[in-house]
Amino acid sequence: MDLSALLFILLLLVVGVFLFLQFSQRYFKKKTLHKDYLAGLNFLLNEEPDKAVDIFTDILEVNKDTVETYLALGNFFRKRGEINKATRIHQNLVTHTKLPKKIRIEALSALGEDYLKAGVLDRAERIFQEVLSLDSEAQSALICLLEIYQQEKSWHEAIVIAEKLSSISRDKDYKKIIAHYNCEVAEAYFASGDIENGELFLKRALKSNPQCARALKTEQKSVSSYRCDHCGYTSKRFSWLCPSCKNWEEIHPYGG
Ligand SMILES: [Zn+2]
Repeated sequence: MDLSALLFILLLLVVGVFLFLQFSQRYFKKKTLHKDYLAGLNFLLNEEPDKAVDIFTDILEVNKDTVETYLALGNFFRKRGEINKATRIHQNLVTHTKLPKKIRIEALSALGEDYLKAGVLDRAERIFQEVLSLDSEAQSALICLLEIYQQEKSWHEAIVIAEKLSSISRDKDYKKIIAHYNCEVAEAYFASGDIENGELFLKRALKSNPQCARALKTEQKSVSSYRCDHCGYTSKRFSWLCPSCKNWEEIHPYGG
């Protein structure tokens, strides 16, 4: 057995004993001990964490004494790459409506990170937006959302989140990143022939970071492009016949 497996079994044992004590205290008072918890603990002792997790999540009772332990256990599973188990534990936590706001935010964030790690971006996005509805300055949720929008190439959404981060955090130079997002949008507009919007977002990129080399280069390129005077079609290559409106001799150097 390697060291991490040994540590894992130890952690599960500690959690199991902790939960056992929590519940036995309560149930001894009623003179009945919950047999499911004994079964769960038994699985832990027999090194069958899967079955123990089944039991603890299926009949899990969440209260202020146990919630931190479950959070720790769920996060531990995620770090081990056992996303399904982590997700089950965190899902179970967030279904409890009476959690204090701070704990609710913690549990939702943990669930969002499970989904993010599993690559289920739409669910992760929904969860982190829910976190923001509870705390609009939840920095870790903002950082995760930024990662999601970047992966999805949702640049407009990414700009909104990065602006927010830039106003509350000095950890990173978000202005530089925002300039890149604006460049992405600008380049897409230029590629589709929408010069006006392309230039608008290029301006925004340079406003965010006046030294943005990418924006400066794109600006240079847009100067040397060609445009159809008739329909507004643009291209980096000259042609006599406009491929868009099919008119002859309407394409001229643009932006000079
Ligand atoms: Zn044309």
